[in-house]
Amino acid sequence: MCSPAPPVSFTPYLLNSGGPVSLNFNLSEENNMLVDAVGEAMKPWTNERKAELQDMVDNSVFPEEMWQTFADLGLLGCLVPEQYGGTDVGLLPLALGFEKIAAMGISPNILLVTCMDAACLARNASDAIKEQYLPGIVDGSTKFCFAITEADAGTNSFNMKTRADLEGDHYVINGSKTYISGVETADYMLLVARTTSKEESAKTDMGQYHGLTLFVVPTDAPGIEKHLIPIGFNEGVGQYTLFFDNVMVPADQVVGQVDMGALVMFNSLNPERILAAAMCSGMSQYCLEVAADYAKDRKVFKDTPIGAYQGIAHPLAMCKAEHEAARMTMLKAAWAFDEHWDAAKVGSLANMSKLLNSESAIHSVDVAMETLGGSAFTKEQGLLNLWNGARLLKTAPVSKEMILNFIAEWELGLPKSY
Ligand SMILES: Cc1cc2nc3c(=O)[nH]c(=O)nc-3n(C[C@H](O)[C@H](O)[C@H](O)COP(=O)(O)OP(=O)(O)OC[C@H]3O[C@@H](n4cnc5c(N)ncnc54)[C@H](O)[C@@H]3O)c2cc1C
Repeated sequence: MCSPAPPVSFTPYLLNSGGPVSLNFNLSEENNMLVDAVGEAMKPWTNERKAELQDMVDNSVFPEEMWQTFADLGLLGCLVPEQYGGTDVGLLPLALGFEKIAAMGISPNILLVTCMDAACLARNASDAIKEQYLPGIVDGSTKFCFAITEADAGTNSFNMKTRADLEGDHYVINGSKTYISGVETADYMLLVARTTSKEESAKTDMGQYHGLTLFVVPTDAPGIEKHLIPIGFNEGVGQYTLFFDNVMVPADQVVGQVDMGALVMFNSLNPERILAAAMCSGMSQYCLEVAADYAKDRKVFKDTPIGAYQGIAHPLAMCKAEHEAARMTMLKAAWAFDEHWDAAKVGSLANMSKLLNSESAIHSVDVAMETLGGSAFTKEQGLLNLWNGARLLKTAPVSKEMILNFIAEWELGLPKSY
């Protein structure tokens, strides 16, 4: 009989042109400390304050106290340079924090957009914009949302119609956005609008990548109308359709260069995808832990726990293996972002990690539900809500199909069909 070897400790080496390079899978002491601190701070919300949190999610009440805890833990400052109050420790620690929160059965989704916008501002905005917004993000007093999706453009963002026209020292914005999360609590939005027509942009060297620009816009600016979109489940933040009617934005609120928004966005969308992947990784961990605990205890026939049946054990083991592989891709993507790898290469890794971790989360929730039988459907277990959350992350912030299109084109050089 051949049983698997026990885990061994080893240091693998890669040979590249620069000589032997250590490939180290140990997390740094600082990262482990951050994860422990997050775990300690979140503990009450999984025990004595669990019902209170569920009540807030059910009633769309923003958990201000938890938000402040996130700020106090330093999560909001991970991507912000020290001169603006942050720690600049990077996306990897932040992703580990996201993963830990989700692994405790709590959704860190309220953090996602402000963190991705902070990354974008830190890497692209003028010093004045950084000075204006980043300290508030770090201390928890300023929240952001992100607005790119339009009803008539959908996945094809280059088809967006929202325009920003320069008039003197300000831009005038007209158009609409949809499915914008968290507008009700955000102070500002990072808005993507067209500053050069699609036809004019097509004539430039950059083609469709030209013509979009990012702006910081107050969510209460005169001329913005907000309509809540009723969503089939409550994920703690609302989604809105926004209408912009001659909204005036000072020209100095442009983030990065005018017409170069497609490139600037990489620094926002890549962290978003990686953090979404981290959230999914945590969800998988949570589901597998809940399911394994249940399978060890639950006895249905004689004195055998259901976890001894391979019909229950093997699907869980498969999820565990899938999760490990997906998680590695997420960690690599976060690391590559921090190492300032080429944005397109980080984009590939970010996309792959979002794809693999969302699939892993969906599979883990489903198998956990199978393991728990009827108990999976109780409100207390929360698995149905997790299924909704995991399934959403297969579609948003970017769909599985568009990720596969990206990989086919950019990694495999396959022709584009659309
Ligand atoms: C709860 C929620 C929160 C959101 N939050 C935000 C937010 O904060 N900010 C924001 O800007 N947006 C947000 N979105 C929008 C989200 O990013 C989009 O819904 C998502 O990117 C998909 O776009 P779409 O809904 O327009 O789908 P569509 O573009 O209409 O696509 C429909 C389907 O067709 C597929 N498809 C389209 N083109 C192709 C192709 N060429 N090849 C293969 N398949 C294709 C898509 O993958 C998808 O499955 C949110 C959405 C939801 C549901």
